[in-house]
Order: sequence, then structure tokens, then C-alpha cells
Amino acid sequence: SRKKKTSTKEFVTEILAGSIPFLSRAITLVESTNTKHQQQANEILEACLPYANKSVRIGITGVPGVGKSTFIESFGKHLTSLGKKVAVLAVDPSSSVNKGSILGDKTRMEELVTDKNAFIRPSPSGTSLGGVAQKTRESIILCEAAGFDTIVIETVGVGQSETAVHSMTDFFLLLKLAGAGDELQGIKRGIIEMADAIVINKADSGNEKNAKIAKVEFNRALHLYPPKDSGWQPKVLLASALQHKGIDEVYTMIDDYIIAAKNTDYFQYKRNEQNKYWLLETINQQLKSNFYNNAAIKELLSNELSKLESGKTTPFAAANRLLKK
Ligand code: GDP
Repeated sequence: SRKKKTSTKEFVTEILAGSIPFLSRAITLVESTNTKHQQQANEILEACLPYANKSVRIGITGVPGVGKSTFIESFGKHLTSLGKKVAVLAVDPSSSVNKGSILGDKTRMEELVTDKNAFIRPSPSGTSLGGVAQKTRESIILCEAAGFDTIVIETVGVGQSETAVHSMTDFFLLLKLAGAGDELQGIKRGIIEMADAIVINKADSGNEKNAKIAKVEFNRALHLYPPKDSGWQPKVLLASALQHKGIDEVYTMIDDYIIAAKNTDYFQYKRNEQNKYWLLETINQQLKSNFYNNAAIKELLSNELSKLESGKTTPFAAANRLLKK
């Protein structure tokens, strides 16, 4: 006989009581493409929403090999040692097709994964960044309802995923290495601009001096940007994730930022702005996918494309006909 479907009420009661198995299952519903699952996920989300929002959301990015997993493990252990509950989520759109996620990989955070006050979830899979990001945002709500007070969201420092993670977090941390050359040229301007702090990792094993030099250079670079809306001057810190050095300073800095941002109401203002952004973003995505998945549009689009190729129409005329339809 088939297992009875778990009711939404049971899901919500269990999540609010902090049940990790139910939290995991609810996230699986959020990530599902099955319409019935999505419907139940939405019911669970609505019921959890009043209990969400109370956490601090921290985005962490950096190129592969910079030490994100190692840092998050060390940082996460530090937080749980302070009595906090930490959820680690990831946004990695490239993990969709068979590649398997390298982010939020439990085998790379062996110690944190056995910590009962930590919850690690790899990136949802999906073909579009927008889809992956939306699922992660919804998972944040579930984690918060389950009592996680610190949400860490990891993403790789390539492509557009940093922007998505930046727009769902309160504090954005960029991990860098010293002496990797092109300190100032090689970094994408946009990412530096988004960072509330740069942490130079692997400041150990004879690399300390280079790390200090890099710190000065990054500080100089950060001062070239206009002041942030938050009034916060981004900081540069040194750390060794491997040797657990500098991790407490990173936490103290984030805590200082949060206290200041709450004092000025910037914290809530930013979250409201983020909510507006995601509302519009969701509409845009839905409109787009409805449009392209419409059977009549698909047919007309392929006709218009052949007309375009044979020089019988212009892109603008073709687009207009499609949009009118
Ligand atoms: P990720 O790809 O950004 O998640 O990087 P990992 O956390 O997997 O780290 C990549 C490599 O760098 C691993 O071999 C780590 O052991 C090493 N590593 C990470 N943090 C440090 C550090 O602070 N110091 C040193 N020396 N090595 C580190």
C-alpha cells in the first residue's frame, strides 16, 4: 500500500519544532517540478512565513579553490560553539545536468555535517539561475522557521550567481587569495562593489606577508568606490580557514554590521527592497516561461525565425508579431 501523504499541517508543526527530516522533505517539495508538490510547498511556505525572517543571512563567494568549504566549516563550527544554529545553502546553476554540485557538498564539510546545530543542503538543480535562486530563497524561509538563526549561502565566483546571492543576503563576503597575481585587475568590478567585506584566506604557512600586502591593496581598491547606501565601509580581513585563524574576527565584524544596520533600520529597508526585487523577478520569469512554452508561440517563433533567416522580415517586425500574439 502507498504511504499516506504527509499533511501540510504536520509538515508545519514538525518544521516549527525544528525537525530536520521534515525540513529536508519540505525543501525537496520546494525543489520539485511536480505541480502537486509545488502546491504543497507553497502552502507550507505561507504557513512558515510568520516564523521566518529572524535570521542573519550571509552570502559567501569566491573562485573554486579559494577555500569556501573549509571557511564555511570553520565559520559554522565557530557559530555553533556560540550556541547558534547554522544552515548552509548553495546557489550553483551549473550543477543542473549530471555535473553534481560542488557547493554545499557535505563530504567537504565533514565536521559541520555531524553538528546537530548545523544543516547543510547542496544547491538545488535547475536549468536557469533564476529558478535555482528562487528555490534557495524559499528554502531560507523554511530554515528560518525551523529555528536556524544564521543562514550561509555559498556561490562560486563566476557568472551571475553572485548577484542573485547578494540580493537574498544581509551581508556579502568575498573570499580572496593573496599573491594570486592581478589582485586588482583580475577581479570583476561588480563583485568587489557588492562585497561588504573581503576575507583574504590562506593567510598561513609563510603566506602571511603576502596576505598583509594584499590587504593593503584591497583596502585601497575598496576606498575607490562610492560609499554604500548602508553607510558601511567594507573591510578587509585576513584568515586561515584551515587553521581556524581570523574566523572569530569575521564573525564579530558581521555582528557589528548587523547591529549598526538594525539601528538605522537599513536592515529592514534592504530586506524590503530585496522582497520587491524578487517579486518582480518572479513575474518576469513566469511571463517569459509562459511565453516560450506556449504552443502557438513556439510555432510562430519557428516560422518567424525562418523568415528572418531568408531575409523576409526584420527582427523588430518579427518580435512585434510574436508579442502581439
Ligand atoms: P572551495 O573550492 O572554495 O570550496 O575550496 P576548498 O575549501 O575546497 O579548499 C581548497 C583547498 O584549499 C583545499 O585543499 C583546502 O584544504 C585548502 N585550504 C582551504 N583553506 C585554507 C587555508 O586557510 N589555508 C591553507 N593553507 N589551505 C586552505
